[in-house]
Amino acid sequence: MRTTNHKRTLAGLWRGLFLAVSLLAFFCIGLTFALNAQTPEEAPTGLEVHFLDVGQGDCILIRLPDEKLILIDGGERRYGPAIVSYLRGLGIDRIDYLVATHPHADHIGGLPDVIEAFPIDTILMPRTTHTTQTYERLLTTIRDQGLRITEAVAGDELFDSGRLRARIVAPQKKQYEKLNDFSVVLHLQYGSTAFLFTGDAEETSEAEMLRSGYPLNADVLKVAHHGSRTSSGKRFLEAVRPSIAVIQVGADNRYGHPTQEVLERLAALDATVYRTDTHGTVIVRSDGETLQVETLANGSPPSPTPAAPVVDADADMPALTPPGPGVVTPETDSPMVHVTPHGRRYHRATCRTIRDESREMTRQEAENQGYGACGVCKP
Ligand SMILES: [Zn+2]
Ligand SMILES: [Zn+2]
Repeated sequence: MRTTNHKRTLAGLWRGLFLAVSLLAFFCIGLTFALNAQTPEEAPTGLEVHFLDVGQGDCILIRLPDEKLILIDGGERRYGPAIVSYLRGLGIDRIDYLVATHPHADHIGGLPDVIEAFPIDTILMPRTTHTTQTYERLLTTIRDQGLRITEAVAGDELFDSGRLRARIVAPQKKQYEKLNDFSVVLHLQYGSTAFLFTGDAEETSEAEMLRSGYPLNADVLKVAHHGSRTSSGKRFLEAVRPSIAVIQVGADNRYGHPTQEVLERLAALDATVYRTDTHGTVIVRSDGETLQVETLANGSPPSPTPAAPVVDADADMPALTPPGPGVVTPETDSPMVHVTPHGRRYHRATCRTIRDESREMTRQEAENQGYGACGVCKP
């Protein structure tokens, strides 16, 4: 009897518990609906493109109307934490497409922090290699997170829903002399508005894009290679015909970006130029018909502020050369310089002594590899 009684008591308890849980569930569902009804949707209804001010480097955040997210590049390594907190500040908790345009440090340095901080669906990169610790670190982080790299090839489409379409238009070849020409270039169409994101693509890639027949026309152009004169050729700009041109560039950078030639070519097309060194972070919004530009100069929120410089012994030094005891603190803002295949000097990009192909690296990297400063351009 005692056992039966006990069973009855237990059964009663279970029934009571079930009733309580059911009531709680109904209450919660009701509350969720009430909250949804009261909280306005925070994500943008249109398309939003943020050109983040990461000094001399690129970082572009694209919020799509369907709330998906594309991040193109991640500035230098010391900007990583600031980029992560900028994204978090917007309520972003995942990235659908991460594009590392090409392996230069001013484009991929901050990406490992981003990859560690957010779940990422697709990582798009060109097929190329680069022997710097910054690049090795990116590959290691991707591997450690169990992610795979999708090779970006011209002609591939990220998505196409009629009104919203993203297509890769470069790189078109497997081999280039300049690392910049491997840059993944993305054309994004939303309604009757369009954007072109060019990375650091130079003349060789531009000529291929022109020949390809892919759509290049865009209202908003991310000016290639920080406004370097080796990009943004006249014919290419005429094919794009931007009304808004955004240059991601650091104030007082040592190699003359953006160049006067490129600024004049843009002026000839009546494009309005926005620069992250003077305007800060630039946000362009599209409702599919019209464009709106907002600038966040002087670090007004939510502009990222550069994180305190990290004492970072591997700031883009060759991966195969471990830093010696004398190389502990790289320059806080080691500028990009150019070296040629046969020269022993490093130069500003605009140096008149550069006659053949030049390769970009940080000044710290050039000095570590034994290059000396050019006496003509005094980089
Ligand atoms: Zn580059
Ligand atoms: Zn660059």
